[in-house]
Amino acid sequence: AKAAGRNRYRFFEPEMAFATRERMALETSLRPALARGEFELHYQPRIDLRSMAMVGMEALIRWNHPERGMVSPAQFIPIAEETGLIAPIGRWVLTEACLQTRRLMTEFGREICVSVNVSARQLAHATFVGEVREALQESGIPPHCLELELTESALIADIERTALMLRELHGLGVKLAVDDFGTGYSGLAYLRSFPIDVLKLDRSFVLQEDERISAFDFVKAFVDMAHALKLAVVAEGVETAEVVEFLRAADCDEAQGYHFAKPLPLAALRERLAAEK
Ligand code: C2E
Ligand code: CA
Ligand code: CA
Ligand code: CA
Repeated sequence: AKAAGRNRYRFFEPEMAFATRERMALETSLRPALARGEFELHYQPRIDLRSMAMVGMEALIRWNHPERGMVSPAQFIPIAEETGLIAPIGRWVLTEACLQTRRLMTEFGREICVSVNVSARQLAHATFVGEVREALQESGIPPHCLELELTESALIADIERTALMLRELHGLGVKLAVDDFGTGYSGLAYLRSFPIDVLKLDRSFVLQEDERISAFDFVKAFVDMAHALKLAVVAEGVETAEVVEFLRAADCDEAQGYHFAKPLPLAALRERLAAEK
């Protein structure tokens, strides 16, 4: 057993060294990426399940790496969070998303809402509320057209401080959403202390089939509870027409996912909006 343990160790060591080198290489090229204009935003449409119209979109960052091509945010956002680079990157995302949304509203002559992902590290910065205020002023979008997506873990890191900050943000008129809802284990108590408007149900939550209760019954009960608490529910990662029907039957408010559209580069988003007109 000891020999096997040693072998396993020897087997994994070079792999770990490789992962560390990879990470360091990514980190080195991440530093100048913002100044070099290597980031762009893609937008995934959000659909109102009653009218089936596109009512908003989620901004998702993309990194066009000079050698590697598109690098997934799942790969570089954690590095940006650990190194603190998330502060300038997150600020860029916020400003860019608001400015592009303003242009789209002018171009298409209607309101379009944009959701921006905010990491725990950004929320922890005392300057964050000011950054949001500036992004609103600079772009001129109505505050209710900006939604901030926060994860449960970011919310419960420091409940008292977060509650104060969220009240300030809510005071600006922006919407607050809990992202990946149903994947954490934090319970529901924090919903009482925070001015949350929207719950974004994680894909796994919507697909969950148990022995005792069907996915439909589970989601329906959940949506009813959310509505009783005056929260809107958005289902994420919707890939099939069956799930759309089930969500409509469960009275879910909005949905996004590949069934409707993948995250789209700005030009493709314009085409989509033009087709809706
Ligand atoms: P998220 O906020 O939960 O975003 C949803 C992810 O699911 C996106 O991955 C999206 O492309 C993907 N997705 C959308 N529809 C479907 C579907 O029907 N099926 C499946 N299987 N997946 C779907 P993406 O764009 O790779 O982003 C990954 C994560 O990176 C995001 O998860 C978010 O946590 C983070 N992220 C992305 N952009 C930003 C950003 O600007 N700032 C911060 N802090 N985080 C970001
Ligand atoms: Ca999100
Ligand atoms: Ca999510
Ligand atoms: Ca996620």
